[in-house]
Amino acid sequence: MPTTAPSARGLACVVALVLVPTLVGCGGEPGGDDAPGPSPAATAATASPEPGASPGARPAYAADEADRAAVDAMLAQRAQAVRVRDEAAFLATVDDRDPRLVAQQRTLFANLARLRLARYDYETTGDQLLPDPVRRAGPREPVVRFQTVEHTQVADALTGAVGNVVRMTYVRRDGRWLVGQEKAAEQVAGGEGHLRPWFGGPVDVADRGTLVVLTDAADAGLADALADIVEESVTADAALLQVAPDRQVLVDATGNGPTVRLNTVDEEEAAAIYTGVFDVDAQGRRTTLSGGTIRINPDLTAAELTGDPGLLRHEVVHLLLRRYTGVLPMWLSEGVAEYARWYPLTTRDLRVTPELWQRVQAAPHRLPGAGVFQLDPAVNYLVSQAAAQHLLARGGPVALRSLLEGYRSGVDAGAGVDDGDLTDRLLADVYDTTEAEVVDGAWDALGELDR
Ligand SMILES: [Zn+2]
Repeated sequence: MPTTAPSARGLACVVALVLVPTLVGCGGEPGGDDAPGPSPAATAATASPEPGASPGARPAYAADEADRAAVDAMLAQRAQAVRVRDEAAFLATVDDRDPRLVAQQRTLFANLARLRLARYDYETTGDQLLPDPVRRAGPREPVVRFQTVEHTQVADALTGAVGNVVRMTYVRRDGRWLVGQEKAAEQVAGGEGHLRPWFGGPVDVADRGTLVVLTDAADAGLADALADIVEESVTADAALLQVAPDRQVLVDATGNGPTVRLNTVDEEEAAAIYTGVFDVDAQGRRTTLSGGTIRINPDLTAAELTGDPGLLRHEVVHLLLRRYTGVLPMWLSEGVAEYARWYPLTTRDLRVTPELWQRVQAAPHRLPGAGVFQLDPAVNYLVSQAAAQHLLARGGPVALRSLLEGYRSGVDAGAGVDDGDLTDRLLADVYDTTEAEVVDGAWDALGELDR
């Protein structure tokens, strides 16, 4: 039996529906996503002195191949120290004259040491970027920043390494290259495929094998509570949709890293998203899909998270259906996720404000595609949920599976996910129905909303 949201919680859905899910990464990240990775070329700069960047008018330093080889050797030692959990060896790669840097690096090491890592290493290119200021560096000590990528594979939870362009500046002190500064990397478009919750504040980890949950250490007990909810959600959603349970995911509920934003007109933030994560090459371009993450908005409190299991049931549907990522129309992937989020509640049990009810009734009577979905997500999640509810009532999970497979075959054969001909053909083949009938069914269900 699935975890059920009591109807009292169902009555609170107006706010939750607006906040809930995900447009950007929510199942919309195919392995070969064309969202651009970080573009180091855009930030590349020579190491010429720049006012503000290097106080004290430090002369330009042009690193040579020997410098880069020495930095690479230092980074190899540093990565090895992470892998064998040797804090002293790790801190030996850090300029210890800056107490803030040392504290930050201790936390980074402690966070990484809490994870079982299948891989941890660094990669540099010869590209020299504008160095960040190194506090307390002497005027004759050269400072350099190479393009640097960190590859991290959390064992079992990820299928490969996640690549992060990191922003480390190196300083040569007494003939040795050290990490002189590390800053959070610039946010980039398409950055939702990246994952680096170990850089920032201290984290707590719940390690359930293939399911790994990270939270801020300050949220005592939350990591285990979320791991329980995810496990229960996987069981419930897999039973509801009659698909194989899949618990291989890294959940990032930390405040580290960029906030995920819904790309809506009103800038509403997503409560959570499921997204693929990727390795990158030395230039920061995405290479391979390395698994998936459920990323939770750090603005949600622990009580909000644990008090609303439906939030994770929605995201877990995207996890369970990830083989269909990128091949489903948005109304279908979001509709099924919303259906599971509220199950066994239906549209009949949900209450909306009169204003939202008006918007639902006035909305174009059609299945919302990606092009219009974010124009009014509150309405379109409801419409999608109602459409999924109609289809599941008509054919249950077996027919739904046929529909999903049909979209995959159709898209593999070259159709677009919002191709009306494909939808017409699949609805006819699988349900012996038409889009107009599904739309009518959806609006019948929406007419039952409590207002
Ligand atoms: Zn979603």
